[in-house]
Amino acid sequence: MRKRIIAGNWKMNLTPKQAKELILELSPKVKHAACEVVVCPPAVDLQAVSEAISGTNIVLGAQNVHWKESGAYTGEISAKMLLELGVKYVIIGHSERRQYFGETDETVNMRALFALESGLVPIICVGESLETRESGTTNEFVSNQIKAALKGMSKEQVKGIVIAYEPIWAIGTGKTATSAEAYEAISAIRSTIADIYDESVANLVRIQYGGSMNSRNASELLAMENIDGGLIGGASLKADDFAAICAAASK
Ligand code: PEP
Repeated sequence: MRKRIIAGNWKMNLTPKQAKELILELSPKVKHAACEVVVCPPAVDLQAVSEAISGTNIVLGAQNVHWKESGAYTGEISAKMLLELGVKYVIIGHSERRQYFGETDETVNMRALFALESGLVPIICVGESLETRESGTTNEFVSNQIKAALKGMSKEQVKGIVIAYEPIWAIGTGKTATSAEAYEAISAIRSTIADIYDESVANLVRIQYGGSMNSRNASELLAMENIDGGLIGGASLKADDFAAICAAASK
């Protein structure tokens, strides 16, 4: 029922030329993927990647969007700019943005609402720190992040969004949540959505796992029926690794 989605978060890596080269290498390797294949390059690479993915099954995502249509917001990117370049998805609330760039639950909500109103699909990131996990309050923490992120969203809007459960302690560290840990947190997220809306809505929302997912651990994580894909950082920069994850999600 839920089509799996593997999205590569390239973060602040690759120039436009390098981005194009990666797409040229990646596109033949993922052309038979049964999952949705998304790449989210840095903003300045979007034009080059948009051209390079033309005629392939790779879909374009961005790493940020502002909540206003246009104006005096230096350094920000509007939904209209992204749409003109063929962007479909946009990552919102990544823990690196929360940690280093002042992103809050409130701005995550504003960005997500505006993305939806503009016709973009938000990939909303949530996830706990190691401290929260060790204190045994992970489910409550991610549930509160979800409630804040979805504030003011209609049922119809929520059905189409993507959520990435990304434990902060697993991002870029080589430590992966066990499939059972990921399953439990994702179940908590889904039941929060069911509480706010209803079960049928919750069953339509795609929830990815993110945090050091790679070609070796992807199959086990994606074998959980509740995990609808992955948000991939480091491994998305290597065509073979990213293609292997897409293959694991296509089974
Ligand atoms: C991410 O940045 O969303 C991520 C999951 O990174 P990594 O795969 O490198 O842990």
